[in-house]
Amino acid sequence: MKQTMETDILILGAGIGGYQTFRVLEKYLKKERLHRKITIVDRNNYFTFVPMLHEAATGSIEPTHCAIPLRALVAGTPHTFCKASVEYIDPKKKIVKTSVGSMSYQYCVIALGSVTNYFKTPGAKEHSQHVRTLDGAMRLKHEFIHTLETCGDEPVTLNIVGGGYTGVEVAGQYADLAKKDLKQLYPNTSIGIRVIQAGDGILPHMSVAIQQKVEKRLVRQGVIIQKNAKVTHVSKGSIEINDHDNIKSDITIWTAGFETLGATYMKTGVNDRGRIDVTGELHMEEFPDTYALGDIANIQDPTTHISYPQLAEAAYHEGTYVAKHLVRTLKHKKTTPFRFHSKGQLMPIGDWYGVAQIGPFVLFGKFAWWIRRTVYLLFMPGFLRKLRIVFDWTLHSFGVRDVISVDTANVEEHTQ
Ligand SMILES: Cc1cc2nc3c(=O)[nH]c(=O)nc-3n(C[C@H](O)[C@H](O)[C@H](O)COP(=O)(O)OP(=O)(O)OC[C@H]3O[C@@H](n4cnc5c(N)ncnc54)[C@H](O)[C@@H]3O)c2cc1C
Repeated sequence: MKQTMETDILILGAGIGGYQTFRVLEKYLKKERLHRKITIVDRNNYFTFVPMLHEAATGSIEPTHCAIPLRALVAGTPHTFCKASVEYIDPKKKIVKTSVGSMSYQYCVIALGSVTNYFKTPGAKEHSQHVRTLDGAMRLKHEFIHTLETCGDEPVTLNIVGGGYTGVEVAGQYADLAKKDLKQLYPNTSIGIRVIQAGDGILPHMSVAIQQKVEKRLVRQGVIIQKNAKVTHVSKGSIEINDHDNIKSDITIWTAGFETLGATYMKTGVNDRGRIDVTGELHMEEFPDTYALGDIANIQDPTTHISYPQLAEAAYHEGTYVAKHLVRTLKHKKTTPFRFHSKGQLMPIGDWYGVAQIGPFVLFGKFAWWIRRTVYLLFMPGFLRKLRIVFDWTLHSFGVRDVISVDTANVEEHTQ
């Protein structure tokens, strides 16, 4: 693409927020007979359902079942998908610079999500794994199986950096895997799982009662929880804690934080945490044709002035809102501000155990685990994907997890 491509409605990022914006917008444009074309841009040609990636990494779901091809999203519609990396957004000129050329727009929805934050820890990016992207989850799965296959009788050490939601979910999955499937498949290998948390407790955003109960559960599952421990260096095969303790780490999984890169995409309208400031109607104050939502946007509750959480649930509702807002704007109809009320927090800790915090009620155990699975399945777009996931879960409940891992990095080596 050489010249500037002209677009009507440009959606940047086809993750949870961008994908939902497209789905709702496409439906309403058709219903209202508005002949506007959507161009959805993502650096991958698939949508990723991030909250399920830790299950893909541990073999309870086939990794590609957490993803949906974006070509299938636009097929049979007048809209377009463009595989490109967004490099710079100029909301004043209404132009976006991408890896395949520039695009001008009438309306733009920025939904570029967030990335892993390594807090400038030396070696962390190079030597740790993550579950933030589909390729990251697939790499982790491969590394883990490769380590099991090559460790001989040596114990395998797995260190999870960060004891927030993701760290706890990942630890729960690996603890189950170690207790059940790996006992059968790798009977001579023992696995040590450790969660390393910089603060004095895991799940700092949850109540003390939940923290204690989850910690007890993980410890019973054989997970070591090391608190007040900051990872200060990561190398291949080891990590350093609090600047002096060096421990063996066959696999290091970094879940400690994420950051938003708003400031790398535009010069104005971004707060000091890299989030794009938007009004109560989710567009930039100065540029009403440029919306932002999901992790990258700073959206505040109008009463408390507290920013809405960077969660899939929020991104999904923001996507629905922006799509409807855009259609009302195109029809010159009155619009109302966005309000978000979380339905609750759901967290699985391995198989058949979860925590569900719904309003003042807190549930632990199998029922909470089941609610989480059901809700996330409903969130997952696409009927066929839902079916595939249910199939994976059912197979995995009656059998062992999948431990096949194909190392595509060595294709050339194997054909020589
Ligand atoms: C491991 C993990 C577990 C989680 N679990 C939960 C959970 O249980 N419940 C919950 O509510 N939330 C959970 N979250 C948070 C949730 O996933 C995010 O809040 C949500 O995905 C944000 O949606 P988004 O649309 O803003 O970004 P994303 O869903 O991350 O989508 C961003 C999209 O933009 C694309 N993109 C990024 N940069 C570029 C670029 N430069 N050019 C082109 N395309 C680009 C990406 O490929 C991606 O498709 C979890 C997050 C992680 C990392």
